[in-house]
Amino acid sequence: MRRRTPVMAGNWKMYKSVAQTIEFFEKFKPLVAPAAHCEIVIAPPFPALAAAAEAARGSRIRIAGQNLHWEAEGAFTGEVSAAMLSAAGCSHVIIGHSERRQYFGETDQTVNRRLRAALAAGLIPIVCVGEKLEHREAGRTNAVVGEQFDGAFAGLTAGEFSPILVAYEPVWAIGTGRTATPEIAAEAHRLIRDRAAGRFDSAAAESLRILYGGSVKPDNIRGLMARPEIDGVLVGGASLDAQSMAAIVNF
Ligand code: PEP
Repeated sequence: MRRRTPVMAGNWKMYKSVAQTIEFFEKFKPLVAPAAHCEIVIAPPFPALAAAAEAARGSRIRIAGQNLHWEAEGAFTGEVSAAMLSAAGCSHVIIGHSERRQYFGETDQTVNRRLRAALAAGLIPIVCVGEKLEHREAGRTNAVVGEQFDGAFAGLTAGEFSPILVAYEPVWAIGTGRTATPEIAAEAHRLIRDRAAGRFDSAAAESLRILYGGSVKPDNIRGLMARPEIDGVLVGGASLDAQSMAAIVNF
C-alpha cells in the first residue's frame, strides 16, 4: 500500500500547437478516465495552455505551465506571471527544469524567486533538481542535489513547503534514452527526503512527493513505480503520445 498518491506528469517542452493539443486530449482523456490511483498533470507550451485546460475540463487531468516569472507584471518581454498561468487554467507549474538551467541561465536563486511567486498565487510548483553526468562521475551527486534543494527552498517554512512536488531528474538521463535504474533513482529520492527532514521536519519529509524524470517510457515505468521511494514521474518525450502517456499513467 502506497503512503503517498502518485503524480504522473508530462512535460511537452516546445512541442505541439493548439490543434495538436486538442487532438492529444481527445485521445488521452478516455484512456486515463479510470485512473483514480494517481494525479495526472500535463504541461503544454504557453500558447496551448488555455486550450488544454478547456480540453481537460470535467476530467482529473490538471494543467501545468513550464515556467513562470516572479514579478506580477511589467516590462519583461517573453515572460509570463503566476496569475496569467492561473487564469489560463493551470494548477501546477514546473520550475527549474534542467533545460532552463542549462540554456536560459536559471539558478537556484531564480528558482527560489519563481517558487515563491507560484506559491503566493496558489500554484503547485514541480521543482526540478538533478546532477549532470560529470557530477555523478566525480561522486558529487549528493552535494549537487543537496545544494539545489537548499537553494530552491531557502527561507521557506514547513507549511510553505508542504504543497511542493520535487522532481529528481538526473541530467544525463533526460532525452538520452538512458534511464536511471530504479535503484539509482530510489537512492537519490532517499537523499532528497532526508534533506527535507533536515531542512524542515519529519512530517514534511514523509508527505513530500518526489517524482523521477529521465527517459521514462511505458516499458520502464513499472520497475520505477515498484520502488516505494518513487512517488510518480515527470515524463518528457513519451508524454507527447497519448497512448504512451496513458500507458505510463496506468502503470
Ligand atoms: C523532462 O523533460 O523532464 C524529461 C525527463 O524528458 P525525457 O522523458 O524525454 O527524458
